[in-house]
Amino acid sequence: MSAQILSGRDVAAVVRAEVAEQVAALNGRGKTVGLATVLVGDDPASHVYVRNKHRAAEKAGMISIDVNLPADVSQEEVIAAVHTLNGDDRVDGMIVQLPLPSGLDGNAAVEAVLPAKDADGLHPYNLGLLILDRPGPRPATPSGVLRILEHYGITTSGKRAVVIGRSFLVGRPMAIMLGAKGVDATVVQAHSRTPDLGAVTLEADIIVVAAGRPNLLRREHVKPGAIVIDVGTNRVDDKLVGDVDFEGVSSVAGGITPVPGGVGPMTIASLLVNTVQAAQRTATLD
Ligand code: NAD
Repeated sequence: MSAQILSGRDVAAVVRAEVAEQVAALNGRGKTVGLATVLVGDDPASHVYVRNKHRAAEKAGMISIDVNLPADVSQEEVIAAVHTLNGDDRVDGMIVQLPLPSGLDGNAAVEAVLPAKDADGLHPYNLGLLILDRPGPRPATPSGVLRILEHYGITTSGKRAVVIGRSFLVGRPMAIMLGAKGVDATVVQAHSRTPDLGAVTLEADIIVVAAGRPNLLRREHVKPGAIVIDVGTNRVDDKLVGDVDFEGVSSVAGGITPVPGGVGPMTIASLLVNTVQAAQRTATLD
């Protein structure tokens, strides 16, 4: 069997076109839509991520505001930059690019973001809304994963899903979102202390891997026909690879996301969705 390729790049193009339409509609009502980023220091990877976010925002017709702070900035200055953007009416969505340089507290910076402007969906208030199953911006990467499943008509209701990884960024919200009402998978969360990963994943109809470990999920861990979503992004010998042995697993899985071109583009698309939805809420209130 050769797995269907689930192209996040293709799905992201659809989502970004939808967002562009929504931005144009808001513009037509006199409401601009803006995405702001706060980037501290000169980590090259973070600069690339932020540049890609701005490019995507501008292509969707958004205003993009780029705040760059030097690595030796104080915690107070980072928080002050966030507060300024909180008070800026042009800003509907905001991202504090993590990780911050050592010595700075990334959690405190994220908590300073107004929950209504939280494009990443990672503010503790919004994570609380997620647990309560109430509307609010959802974490971008897991949202992107669900959109890929929906786009390819992959049923989640009643299916057995395994999420590998339990970070607050991906694994934990992913497990909650897969088990939420309306998605309705039966979810097992695996992590670094799970003794026999294969025994757990072999039971799964859907496997989401977000561990940051190349080749963690292999052919022998996957039930024939299962759907495999690879969130991992690892640099190996200057090549970008996921957490899944793509060649082996694609010979047994029913569908698989590639790396690159899988979940990565969906994370950015989801940030845009959170931002335009925040703008729609503001426009309704005005
Ligand atoms: P993290 O390091 O915070 O968490 C990794 C998780 O994996 C932990 O909960 C740990 O328990 C689990 N884990 C580690 N080794 C394991 C093992 N051998 N068996 C089972 N579980 C194991 O990482 P993160 O922030 O959640 O990111 C995970 C991966 O996803 C990284 O490669 C990261 O770069 C990538 N990522 C990609 C995107 C994207 O847009 N594609 C977005 C966020 C993160």
